[in-house]
Amino acid sequence: MRHSCDIAIVGSGILGVSISFWLSKLYDCSILLIDKEGGVAHHTSSRNTGVVHRPFYLNPEKKKIFARCSQNSYTLWSKLALKFNLPWRQLGTIEVALDDSQIPTLEKYKRWSLANGMEEWETEILNAKEVREIEPEVECAGAIYSKTDTCVDYGEFTRCVFNLAEKNGVKFLGNCDVVGIEENGECGVVMLHARELENSSRAKGENNAHEARGKRFISEIECRLLINAAGGCSLDLAHQMGLAKNLTDLHFRGEYWVVSEPFASKIRRNVYSVAKYPEFPFLDPHFIVRASGRREIGPNAVLVSGPGAYSGLSSSKKELLEKIFERPLSPKIKLFTSRKFLALAWKEWRSSFSKSAMCGRVKQFIPALEEKFLVERGLSGIRSSVIDESGFVPEALVLESEKSLHVINYNSPGATGAPSFSAYVVSVLKEKGFLDSFTKKKKIAQEEDHSELWNFEFATKNL
Ligand SMILES: Cc1cc2nc3c(=O)[nH]c(=O)nc-3n(C[C@H](O)[C@H](O)[C@H](O)COP(=O)(O)OP(=O)(O)OC[C@H]3O[C@@H](n4cnc5c(N)ncnc54)[C@H](O)[C@@H]3O)c2cc1C
Repeated sequence: MRHSCDIAIVGSGILGVSISFWLSKLYDCSILLIDKEGGVAHHTSSRNTGVVHRPFYLNPEKKKIFARCSQNSYTLWSKLALKFNLPWRQLGTIEVALDDSQIPTLEKYKRWSLANGMEEWETEILNAKEVREIEPEVECAGAIYSKTDTCVDYGEFTRCVFNLAEKNGVKFLGNCDVVGIEENGECGVVMLHARELENSSRAKGENNAHEARGKRFISEIECRLLINAAGGCSLDLAHQMGLAKNLTDLHFRGEYWVVSEPFASKIRRNVYSVAKYPEFPFLDPHFIVRASGRREIGPNAVLVSGPGAYSGLSSSKKELLEKIFERPLSPKIKLFTSRKFLALAWKEWRSSFSKSAMCGRVKQFIPALEEKFLVERGLSGIRSSVIDESGFVPEALVLESEKSLHVINYNSPGATGAPSFSAYVVSVLKEKGFLDSFTKKKKIAQEEDHSELWNFEFATKNL
């Protein structure tokens, strides 16, 4: 099978789908959205906490792009939810200080919320008594209450944006695992080699497309521009093109437990605790309210060997060995010789196999929570964090070659910021001349344009 298109996007998570939306809204060109799964949003984009995070906790300088993307995207998501009647539960988040030493962090968050464009009324610092007045089960030294944090279902959001992109002409190629990429500078094309996979892995109760399904090396896809939005696999694809050779990644499984009634409904908002080790991807699990109303605790961050390891340590021994010996080795060696990292990683593993350890982490701020209230496991999701010689890379990275653009390390609050971050990716493509050879679409009258509810100028405001 041979396919050809102007733009190929690998990865139909919330990021790849949103990029396809903007490109198809703005340009007259053929766009192929490719995924190894049979439909969109099969991985992290459907396996997360489901919170539209307001940017009060994001450093306006060090996390500038993510902070601004979160701010712009809040309006874009709320418009989409309203127009298509998608769940939108604006319940708010209480982020608690576990002791007095964390109170200054709350004050810093208040300043950051304003610097990131939130309105004064949206956040409020509460003392311990004020927290108990609105959430009697929560004990802490104080908290910041972010009133506009919202619980949603990002899988549904992604499918909705995909429907709009399809109406704009985007084509989807599913069950297609991209395994090789070659850039041919002379012909001005990129050639993707892909294995077409049979059936959905989920139908077999397995999670890793690479391991679970039949493999046939049959597809070749030729494109003029490649966009790599392959989530936990995007660094591997970038490596194939000779990019980011100094970087590697680690995968952390975030697990959840469902909290039973009647205790669950005693808590009405999301409850997070201030991160003790912001330099590592380890937060204590939160108490969360799902868009469906279900209450859960989680996620922890259990080190596993790949982006499809939804249970156990690894999807296969081969994957584990490849991960251990994957180059570059030195960032991993540095991290694995850090006692602090190892101690924290062990704590996460403990809360994976011990329900009581998981419960204990949330009991720090909800003391009445009992192990017997945790009745079943929720859906886990995997975060892929990029590391270099100096540790975890804090922001998403956008890398380019002559005919391709790669987004790596696209982590939380990636789902929140996707409408705006994807527009930012398109503006980078525009600026660097990647889109010069494509014809711009004529502007359609607003009332006829089903996709006008997302405006590009608004999405890229202040970026
Ligand atoms: C536990 C957890 C909780 C989170 N909670 C939140 C939250 O509350 N709020 C928030 O804003 N963010 C949250 N996030 C972050 C957010 O979910 C992610 O940033 C976002 O979903 C990433 O989207 P993506 O499109 O980059 O990746 P994905 O959704 O993983 O999509 C990547 C796609 O690429 C495909 N793919 C990969 N390799 C190949 C290949 N070789 N060939 C073809 N296809 C390929 C995959 O099948 C997949 O569909 C959370 C993340 C985790 C892990």
